[in-house]
Amino acid sequence: MLRDSFGRVATDLRVSLTDKCNLRCSYCMPPEGLDWLPNAQLLTADEIVRLVTIGVELLGIREVRYTGGEPLLRRELPDVVARTTALSPRPQVSLTTNGIGLARLAAPLAAAGLDRVNVSLDTLDRDTFKRLAHRDRFTDVIAGLAAAHDAGLRPVKVNSVLMRDVNQHEAAPLLRFCLEQGYELRFIEQMPLDAQHGWSRDNMVTADEILDLLSASFTLTPDDTEERGSAPAERFLVDGGPGRVGVIGSVTRPFCGACDRVRLTADGQIRNCLFATEESDLKSAMRAGATDDELAERWLAAVARKRPGHGIDDPSFLQPARPMSAIGG
Ligand code: SAM
Repeated sequence: MLRDSFGRVATDLRVSLTDKCNLRCSYCMPPEGLDWLPNAQLLTADEIVRLVTIGVELLGIREVRYTGGEPLLRRELPDVVARTTALSPRPQVSLTTNGIGLARLAAPLAAAGLDRVNVSLDTLDRDTFKRLAHRDRFTDVIAGLAAAHDAGLRPVKVNSVLMRDVNQHEAAPLLRFCLEQGYELRFIEQMPLDAQHGWSRDNMVTADEILDLLSASFTLTPDDTEERGSAPAERFLVDGGPGRVGVIGSVTRPFCGACDRVRLTADGQIRNCLFATEESDLKSAMRAGATDDELAERWLAAVARKRPGHGIDDPSFLQPARPMSAIGG
C-alpha cells in the first residue's frame, strides 16, 4: 500500500495525460499559452497504462482519474480508458475535462468503461466564457455536458471556479442550471497554481462567501447521508434535497489530513500534492529498464515522504514551479 509517514494511504491516482489545453482560463494560464512539454518527454499510452497497472495491481490504487491539461486532446484516451477498466481489481475510472470534444467522445468513452466525468464550467454567459477562457467555446462545453449525460455517465459533475468581479454573481444561476439538468455542481476555491502567479488571497472568493451567495437563493443543509471520508467537497442538500452542491475549500478549509491522492504528471513524475515541491521520476527509471517491482519501490518511497499539508497558510509557502495545467488538476 502507498502509505505515508502520517498513516494516510493513497488509493486515488490522478493521471495527467498532457499539459496542453485548448482553453486559457485566466486562473490557470496566460492567453498566449505556455511552453508545452516536448512530445518525447510525454509518457506514451503504453507507458501510462504500465504505470497505472503497477498502481492498481501492486500498490492498492482503487480510483484512476484522467486529467491534464486537457485529456480529450490525447487521441488514445478511449484506448487508455478501456485498458484501465480491464485491470483487476477493476478501478473506478473518471475524467476531468473542459468538455470540448465530449459531444463526440462521450459515447466511445462510456463504451470503454468510463464511470464518471467532471466538466469544468465557470459561467452560463457566452461572452463571459470568451473573456475568461480566451476562446469562444461555450456552446461546445454545454453540448459536451449533455452528451455525457446522454451516454449514461453518472453523476455528471460540474466544476466551477468563482472569481471576484468576473463570475461571482453566477453562483446561484450555475446551481439552478445544474439542478435543472441533473448535474452535480462543485465550486472550487481558486488556488495559487496559475502560471502567471496572479493569485491573491484577497481576490479569492472563499468557501464562506460561496455559501453566503448560494444561501441568498437556496436553503443549504449539510449532507450527512454519506461519510465525507477523503472527499474534497463539503456537500450540502439544496432546498431539502435530493439536489446537492459541493464546495471545495482547498485554501480556507484544507482537507489534507484525509487526503488519499497521488499524482502522475504527463512526463512521468510522481507528486504527492498539487503544491508539492518535490517529484519522483518514474519515467527515466522506466526508460532505463526498471522492472515493475523497482518502479513500485520508487513509488512507495515517494509517497512515504508526503508532507502533512499543502502549507498555503505557512509564511514560508512558495507556489510550486509547475502550474496546474502541467501537474494535472
Ligand atoms: N482541462 C480540464 C478541465 O478543464 O477540467 C482538466 C484540467 S483542469 C487543470 C482541472 C480543474 O482544475 C478544472 O476544474 C479547473 O477549473 C481547475 N483549476 C485550474 N486552475 C485552478 C486554480 N488556480 N484554482 C482552482 N482550480 C483550478
